[in-house]
Amino acid sequence: MNAPGKVTPDHLRRIAYLYVRQSTLHQVNDNRESTARQYDLKRRAQALGWRSDQIVVIDEDLGLSGASGSLRSGFQRLVAEVGLGRAGVVMGLEVSRFARSSTDWHRLLEICALADTLILDEDGIYDPSHFNDRLLLGLKGTMSEAELHVLRARLIGGQINKARRGELWIRPPIGYIYNAHQQMIFDPDEQIQRTVRLVFETFRRIGSAERVVRHFAAEGILFPRRLVTGPRAGEVVFVPLEHYRVLHLLHNPRYTGAYVYGRTRQRKVVVGATIHYRRLPRDEWKVFIPNAYPGYISWEEFDSNQAKLRANAAGYGWDRRRSPPREGVALLQGIVVCGRCGRRMRVQYHVEKGHPIPTYICVRDAIQKSEPACQTILGTGVDETVSQAVLESVTPASVDLALEVFEELRARKAELDRLHRAQVERSRQEAELAQHQFMLVRPENRLVADTLERQWNEKLRQLAEAEQEYARVSESDAHAMSKEDRQRIQSLVTDLPQVWNNPRTPSRERKRMLRLLVEDVTLLREEVIRIQIRWKGGATTQLKLPLPLSAPDLRRTPAGIVEFVRALATEQTDAQIARTLNARCLRSGMGMPFTAVSVRRVRQAYRIPSLVEHLRREGWLTAPEMASMLHVHSSTAKRFAQEGVLPAVRADDRGQILYQPPHGPLPTAHPGKRFRDRRVYPKLATHTRNEVQSDA
Ligand SMILES: [Zn+2]
Repeated sequence: MNAPGKVTPDHLRRIAYLYVRQSTLHQVNDNRESTARQYDLKRRAQALGWRSDQIVVIDEDLGLSGASGSLRSGFQRLVAEVGLGRAGVVMGLEVSRFARSSTDWHRLLEICALADTLILDEDGIYDPSHFNDRLLLGLKGTMSEAELHVLRARLIGGQINKARRGELWIRPPIGYIYNAHQQMIFDPDEQIQRTVRLVFETFRRIGSAERVVRHFAAEGILFPRRLVTGPRAGEVVFVPLEHYRVLHLLHNPRYTGAYVYGRTRQRKVVVGATIHYRRLPRDEWKVFIPNAYPGYISWEEFDSNQAKLRANAAGYGWDRRRSPPREGVALLQGIVVCGRCGRRMRVQYHVEKGHPIPTYICVRDAIQKSEPACQTILGTGVDETVSQAVLESVTPASVDLALEVFEELRARKAELDRLHRAQVERSRQEAELAQHQFMLVRPENRLVADTLERQWNEKLRQLAEAEQEYARVSESDAHAMSKEDRQRIQSLVTDLPQVWNNPRTPSRERKRMLRLLVEDVTLLREEVIRIQIRWKGGATTQLKLPLPLSAPDLRRTPAGIVEFVRALATEQTDAQIARTLNARCLRSGMGMPFTAVSVRRVRQAYRIPSLVEHLRREGWLTAPEMASMLHVHSSTAKRFAQEGVLPAVRADDRGQILYQPPHGPLPTAHPGKRFRDRRVYPKLATHTRNEVQSDA
């Protein structure tokens, strides 16, 4: 394989690439020897005939690990240069370590073989297009991958063995430190220890991580955190407690005093360098040594905490993305997004008159940091508006339009189909013609026969292509719609409102139907509630909904009625106003008919003067005032009013009479007998002020 015959003038015209890679800085700094070996390789290339200006060094990957070629730009460049046919030879120390993964290495070999590029290392020169050389190079690659595997297995195996004895150092959770004998003990800092205990105690008492956060926030207690990186690494700072920290504490079995290792399994994802971690069930943990050191809680308490957290999580599903439809009545459960922060909103229910009423609430920060909820929106109005929009979007007219568009597209496809079929037909005729011509030629006329055969072959190839294309096109057209299909779709549409509005349709089914049409719904509470429906397929619909009334607002007398009362109060007593309002079928904020008492309450609430106050302001007189003005006894004044001599009204429901201030001559103190007619008196009660004035 060292035969110099492998190097041809064509190789020498191209460039010689020297690929340099040393995986760690340690090697870069200390392994001076390899630099010398690389110069050696250069000299060998020159001895084989390359000029020194033809030798290019690729050393971008210095200090990068060889585990995968996908991140190393130098290796990529090398592959590209080889692929472009610019490389005559690729050189390196132990070439098989160019790429530590077998696939990268074999790809490089394949490309070298295709581009007729040689490979040179300290052992010799190889031509990857020769079977023997390639076999050898392949083996070298496999061996070096195996070496890497063994190396890693040894490292990890050593680590696990150490962990099995409970001796592997793992960063201690807050509340613990290592002592001088490498044993984990409670943190001697009293404040840290007590705060950690307080979290467990508070959770034991109230059973909710969220409320532990709230308790800490309300009491102003800070939680210790050990800085891991930065110039202050190792120091402890006290910060407000956050929800995820409580969860870490509660989920961490090490607080029971157990030594635990290997609770997660990692999995690399090909695209990018992300690593996914998966939590393992307890019986798959690699190492589990109970009571290895003092615990903050018992193992039983840890288990019961896990059960409590699981139960809580069913209700507090903030971390759920687009959750599956559940039983509750909230239509948008699982697909509702907060318009302020973009997080999923969750559903809370309260019961009103025996019915569950949903509320959409965005609480991520509220749970995490015990802050007020981001948004709270009553569900009833929103659900109804969205239902309405969905039913409106799926009308017979809109579906007819969609079906028409579908038909149009199908008609266009049918046209294309005809063209394709014609194309196939023509190709077949041409192929048959070519075959016919070939058959006619005499066998001894070789030259003509060869030409005709080539033409025949060409025609057959064209026919095969046309047939393939036709098959491809007609396959995508497989979903033609029959008349029955059409009718079924149309009847579905007319049935939808019935099914949707049927109270016997389970909420879960209604939600499933909704999800067939709607991607998600965004809610934003401003001066109105803005609803944005994002339909499947990307179209959006914006809707507005007035803010729902608050509880006192719901009981409040409507503003129009208050104004009506204000107008009536200048002429009518409370009982009269109540009768007037009830005659017009007006109802209070509670939906009840009006009474004198409820009218008085409305007047007092809105500072509307009563008829008495109103008339008094206008100078109307009470019975004693009128009596003193007339120099008569007040019962006489009253009698004058009863008998119609003095203009007066009953100004309240207890019968208080107010007298209009006199303008003309005052009546005499000795009225005749005719004024004693008491039948006038009841009329007073129904007098309105205008009647009195027109009488006057
Ligand atoms: Zn929010």
